[in-house]
Amino acid sequence: MIDLHTHSCVSDGTLPPEKIPELAAAMSLAAIALTDHDTVIGIDAFCEAAKRYPDLVAVPGVEISTDYSGKEIHIVGLFIDSHNEILLKFLSHQREERCRRNEMIFRKLSSLGYPLGADEPEFARFSDASSIGRPHFAAALCRLYGFADMQEVFRKLLGHGRPAYVRRKTPDPSAAIEVIHAAHGVAVWAHPVYRQRNESAFVRRFCKKFAPLGLDALECYYSLFGPPETQMLLQAAQDFNLGISGGSDFHGEHSTAQLGTGMGGLAVPDDALATLIARKH
Ligand code: AMP
Ligand code: MN
Ligand code: MN
Ligand code: MN
Repeated sequence: MIDLHTHSCVSDGTLPPEKIPELAAAMSLAAIALTDHDTVIGIDAFCEAAKRYPDLVAVPGVEISTDYSGKEIHIVGLFIDSHNEILLKFLSHQREERCRRNEMIFRKLSSLGYPLGADEPEFARFSDASSIGRPHFAAALCRLYGFADMQEVFRKLLGHGRPAYVRRKTPDPSAAIEVIHAAHGVAVWAHPVYRQRNESAFVRRFCKKFAPLGLDALECYYSLFGPPETQMLLQAAQDFNLGISGGSDFHGEHSTAQLGTGMGGLAVPDDALATLIARKH
């Protein structure tokens, strides 16, 4: 089993990057990727820690938020050179947009009767290179205002169309694909059927447009997918000649998905890795 989609505390996960390989090795995973949102600041510590486990393939990655005709699309880069200047500059710009958006969320929450200080522990790691997102707000709101869980906060305040939602300026998927290639990585469409409607038609439309623009693979295995979603995506990968990826989207305590096994039924087969390595730039 492998897991090619995880987050650490440098974005919206809760474990330090160097803890992820230890957990992966304890579960005897064959490969593990760290794919924090819009930052690669955790990659060096992650790769260094992975050296203690010679049987574990450690894949440096990143997850980039993009926008395709009003839909939020996430592109994961795997096998990236995390020191590539073009990539670093691109991610730095993404985080500037996050900061702008976060400032507006702070203000909206305050006017809705939920003031938060920028000194809340959830925001303590706030720095240029780390990536603060809505889960940090959700965790602070749970702690200070007694929401049952983060899901409730997304449902009532932070989710798309809710009163404290603020749209963030993000690039076209092709810009994310391009920058991942510039950093010698493989571009994967993450959770392609995550909260979409008319999913199969949309998946095929997206593949038709972005496979020629360099999209390398589809995330066919994911915590929230059952066999029908996985089968549909494996078929699309075959039809559009794309590689196969999969992962849990582990966020530590910020989500119920477990490393490797997701909600319990996830098992990403080892041989997906070869389909990705074949597409390395
Ligand atoms: P951001 O990138 O700051 O806009 O935050 C998006 C992140 O929030 C995602 O990567 C998920 O980790 C989390 N998220 C998005 N929607 C929900 C939801 N409905 N419930 C819980 N977490 C969510
Ligand atoms: Mn996240
Ligand atoms: Mn995502
Ligand atoms: Mn993710």
